[in-house]
Amino acid sequence: MISELHIKVSDIPEEGLFLNFEELSGHIPEIDDYSTISSARGRLEVRRSGSEVRISGHVLGILHLSCDRCLNRFPFQVNTPFFYLLKPPGDFHSDLDPDHEVSGDEIEVYWYEDGEIRVEDLFREQILLQVPMRILCKKDCMGLCPGCGADLNEERCQCKEITGHGPFSVLANLKESLSSSQGK
Ligand SMILES: [Zn+2]
Ligand SMILES: [Zn+2]
Repeated sequence: MISELHIKVSDIPEEGLFLNFEELSGHIPEIDDYSTISSARGRLEVRRSGSEVRISGHVLGILHLSCDRCLNRFPFQVNTPFFYLLKPPGDFHSDLDPDHEVSGDEIEVYWYEDGEIRVEDLFREQILLQVPMRILCKKDCMGLCPGCGADLNEERCQCKEITGHGPFSVLANLKESLSSSQGK
């Protein structure tokens, strides 16, 4: 999706960098083949002290996702601030105690490579972090009927009518009598 946007750490001035990105929209294949983000933009405030870089940023846009239950596409708003602390490679033993619990504002710590920060990776990661584990168009999405494929949010299941007249009616009756006998 996002084109490559690299910042050379040595180019970050004393007073910091303030950057706006308007061209973040595009395909997000990490989610699935059809996922895109539109109207996406971001901004970054980049500060350096020595070789350590602190970034606070914000990304917003509209993700177009497919519902896990009904398969319909729906818009999902991303609007999130984020913070990163980036260190040069090899700087593992600084002030970060591994037992120290991250509290309050969570800061992601990363190591940058080749003296540059790949801004597109930060935006991509932040967008992906917003995608829920279960992607649902709404909390109570009814999904598709596994039998007739009806979108149960929109229409009633046709299974009963189909089985009532079709070759599966015997099977359906059998199922019904089985479940009613089990119920007792
Ligand atoms: Zn749905
Ligand atoms: Zn059905």
